[in-house]
Amino acid sequence: CGIVGYVGEKQALSVVVEGLRRLEYRGYDSAGVAVVADGRLDTRKKAGKLANLESLLGTDPLPQSTIGIGHTRWATHGGPTDANAHPHVSEDGKVAVIHNGIIENFAELRAELTAAGVTLSSETDTEVVAHLLAAVLPETDHDLAEAMRRVCRRLSGAFTLVAVHSDIPDVVVGARRNSPLVVGRGQGENFLASDVAAFIAHTRFATELGQDQVVELRRDTVVVTTFDGDPADVTEYEVTWDASA
Ligand code: GLU
Repeated sequence: CGIVGYVGEKQALSVVVEGLRRLEYRGYDSAGVAVVADGRLDTRKKAGKLANLESLLGTDPLPQSTIGIGHTRWATHGGPTDANAHPHVSEDGKVAVIHNGIIENFAELRAELTAAGVTLSSETDTEVVAHLLAAVLPETDHDLAEAMRRVCRRLSGAFTLVAVHSDIPDVVVGARRNSPLVVGRGQGENFLASDVAAFIAHTRFATELGQDQVVELRRDTVVVTTFDGDPADVTEYEVTWDASA
């Protein structure tokens, strides 16, 4: 339901949790975050309110990190449990994915993964994306954006997807079809969110991703392509409304 991604200089976790807080008005049943630090991916997720996730983060803290993603879930496939909360992680523990929307062809993708020996650990439509990204990545010279493009070409339905990988610790990747994703461009930091409200406390320079586009976000660069890998035209605007309320 709510999506936030960050790469920059600040503590990613606080930027991400604050962003999720700004998206709370949309409603949700679970929340989760992932950060990459020292070549490792760590996630925390919890059913219920953001306060439940924050108390988990209090008892089981995450390492300091300048790259992170966060999600508030409105369950469509699989009940609102800790296991079904996002992020979902690949079997090697290296890719984390968050998702808004519905992947319509998830059942056949799950069957394909199961036949290939992958053990799924949730009931969601989302989890297939983590496993598919992990499977495709070695064929892309470890280019997470290219892996995302290849996986997206296999998906049908409505999705905003955001992913990080522990071996690629300076990149956040996002993609969208029939579901919104906005880039916020800062100085030495960049943001992704399902809604500008998540980042306007930090920057008001926003770009809406177009249909079937992928964005590769680093601290100092934003690269947008189509699902086929062609460069995409982007139009940045300045958010002028006051969202401090
Ligand atoms: N379909 C996904 C799930 O049920 C994502 C739901 C959402 O948009 O929050 O986990």
